Amino acid sequence: MNQFAEQYVRLVLAVGQHDADYVDAYYGPPEWRKEAEAQKLPLAEISMRAASLAQAIAAAKPVATADEMARLRYEYLSRQLEAVRARVSMLTGTKLRFDEESKALYDAVAPVHTEAEFQAILSKLEAMLPGRGPLIDRYDEFRKSYIIPKDRLDTVFKAAIDACRSRTLQRIQLPAGESFTVEYVTNKSWSGYNWYQGRYRSLIQVNTDLPIYVDRAIDLACHEGYPGHHVYNVLLEKNLLRDRGWIEFSVYPLFSPQSLIAEGTANYGIEVAFPRQERIEFERRVLFPAAQLRPETAARYYQVLDLVDQLSYAGNEAARRYLNGDIDAKAAADWLEKFGLYSRPRAEQRVRFIEQYRSYVINYNLGKDMVARYIESQGGDRWQAFARLISSPRLPSELVANARR
Ligand SMILES: [Zn+2]
Repeated sequence: MNQFAEQYVRLVLAVGQHDADYVDAYYGPPEWRKEAEAQKLPLAEISMRAASLAQAIAAAKPVATADEMARLRYEYLSRQLEAVRARVSMLTGTKLRFDEESKALYDAVAPVHTEAEFQAILSKLEAMLPGRGPLIDRYDEFRKSYIIPKDRLDTVFKAAIDACRSRTLQRIQLPAGESFTVEYVTNKSWSGYNWYQGRYRSLIQVNTDLPIYVDRAIDLACHEGYPGHHVYNVLLEKNLLRDRGWIEFSVYPLFSPQSLIAEGTANYGIEVAFPRQERIEFERRVLFPAAQLRPETAARYYQVLDLVDQLSYAGNEAARRYLNGDIDAKAAADWLEKFGLYSRPRAEQRVRFIEQYRSYVINYNLGKDMVARYIESQGGDRWQAFARLISSPRLPSELVANARR
């Protein structure tokens, strides 16, 4: 299997030569990357090599009595390779429908939601934010009181990161020397990004193009850092790459099932680290004062945000319609504004994200819901189930199949 894993890593690096977003992290042998750059294999050749690797792997299926980790490794590598093949086929011009694409790349399909479902949630928000003019304007106005002033941003983020880190370290053991740095950047289609560097280090970038609201501090600190992406990558590197020598975990192809697990655990991890009441308490006591906001309004702020969060699947609908060619970019932004309560600049930023990352959007909300159902169905301690999940190779479809009912 190690030999197949090496071929897989080399194929992912080869695809990276054709797709700048593809290789999200690589910390395997540096000469493999240099070779990929020098060779610059054509897509047709990559496609042929991937097909014969898939055949070889299929012939090496472990017996049913093999140890669980060996079976998980096998299934994971096979499915990741399938996603490589799907991405290569897209890069050579194959057009997939939104759901076909998300199935091929992320091993999951997002449920369809109707306008009426979003409308029901919007009506509740109408009642919570009374006044004249469109709801989106009232919501925007309401949120203005929760913007972190630019000169307080770093202080607030540091406080959030410290809290997420200490909560995580109480429950998950991390290797010594893990750390990350934070940078503030502009002109990106995303709001935050974790660039995992290997050797237990991450670079986290925060986009300051648009105003940053106070809830983003805990969200970003948990999602990008602890117990989200940083911890996920650190544990994969420690447990699978270094301890077991599974080289396939030295590379992270962005458009693959791994991303649903990564985004899903990063989003679910926010709630694991900060259950709702504890979060509001912490925001009131620490973050609101640090951001010079009114702590007594924290509980109501989160009541409103909880409702807005229920609109998140409106983003998937906008992406599905737009990428299927049913609506254009402007209509997609309109849809996000109307049913997702995105302000205009945020809706336009999101459309750019959809253009760049396409059906990747489902990994955040559907991923979170799949991870939540899986972990909560295990019973027992959430932290333990969470740590187990991010230390082993599990596929999205397996989460569904193994969620105990
Ligand atoms: Zn993420």
